[in-house]
Amino acid sequence: MRSIQDAFPLLQTPRRIFITTHHKPDGDAIGSMLGLYHYLVKKGHKVTPVSPGEIPEFLEWIPGVKEMLNYEAKPKESLAALKDAELIFCLDFNDYSRTKHLETALAEATQPKILIDHHLFPKPYWDYGMSIPEKSSTCEMVFDFINLFNDNALIDTDIAECLYTGVMTDTGSFRFPVTSASVHLMISNLLQHGLDHTKIHENIYDSWSEGRMRFLGYVLLEKMEVFHNYHAALICLSKKDMGTYGVQSGDSEGLVNYPLSIANIKFATLITERNDEVKMSFRSKGSFDVSSFARQYFDGGGHFNASGGRTKTSFKETIAYFKKILSDIHPQ
Ligand code: 5GP
Ligand code: MN
Repeated sequence: MRSIQDAFPLLQTPRRIFITTHHKPDGDAIGSMLGLYHYLVKKGHKVTPVSPGEIPEFLEWIPGVKEMLNYEAKPKESLAALKDAELIFCLDFNDYSRTKHLETALAEATQPKILIDHHLFPKPYWDYGMSIPEKSSTCEMVFDFINLFNDNALIDTDIAECLYTGVMTDTGSFRFPVTSASVHLMISNLLQHGLDHTKIHENIYDSWSEGRMRFLGYVLLEKMEVFHNYHAALICLSKKDMGTYGVQSGDSEGLVNYPLSIANIKFATLITERNDEVKMSFRSKGSFDVSSFARQYFDGGGHFNASGGRTKTSFKETIAYFKKILSDIHPQ
């Protein structure tokens, strides 16, 4: 993969550009995609941002969301935009399989592809890009990209709101170790460009339905198992659980983080039963590497302290398999 600066000549004239991100997009995925979208439009390009699937309700207020295509709702238009594009940007993932429905189309696309991502172990597909696992978020990297072009002055409140969303969500509101000095300098700069950060926190964290709040109570009371001797906790949600309290599919977002607020719990796992697979989410504090753990046992990956994976076995079998591994590896 060549450096992203080598791609700058391609962006000197107006281009048709396709941007995409990972399936089940989170704040960083949508924030980085739409932040880059607003910037490239300002530079005179014709840009189509495409999410591989539905976006969670807590992100529906983000500037540019109406200009975005959802592949699941509009597959033909999405593929037409991909075919018509002269350049492809891939944000917040580094393996085509993470886009689910777009995997084949991306693999077959022959246009130059540019990666901006902070996950470990990128696949070697991209022509140009930035792949920096030490970065807090893909949004921080989009900010760096804009600055590499000497375009800091072009940052407006739309771009600032998009980029702030991803940095805030991926750093756990600026508390995880990846929250470097450069992250705080970036936020200072976004504030100088008119960002109202309180509005973003409220839109994302104070927009729960009553059902979602009660569902959280139910999950913590009834569904969380704590294994103090392994410094670990486990939450398992069946399809039936997901049907309670009127919760929506995005409402389990963030649940996996709660057990880490228990003293001495350093490894938290959420197992969710879905129609076509069993989804795993892993989070850790400190030195337990959940990225390797996900890769080794659950066909997944991600970051050192936040990762995910899946199984094709049943929900029950997955839980039993997970507990067996837990007792075998005995996390400290
Ligand atoms: P989540 O638990 O929120 O689904 O995922 C946590 C982190 O792990 C995210 O950064 C996500 O991109 C990554 N991740 C989740 N599932 C997978 C997977 O199957 N493969 C890889 N490589 N990364 C994943
Ligand atoms: Mn991210």
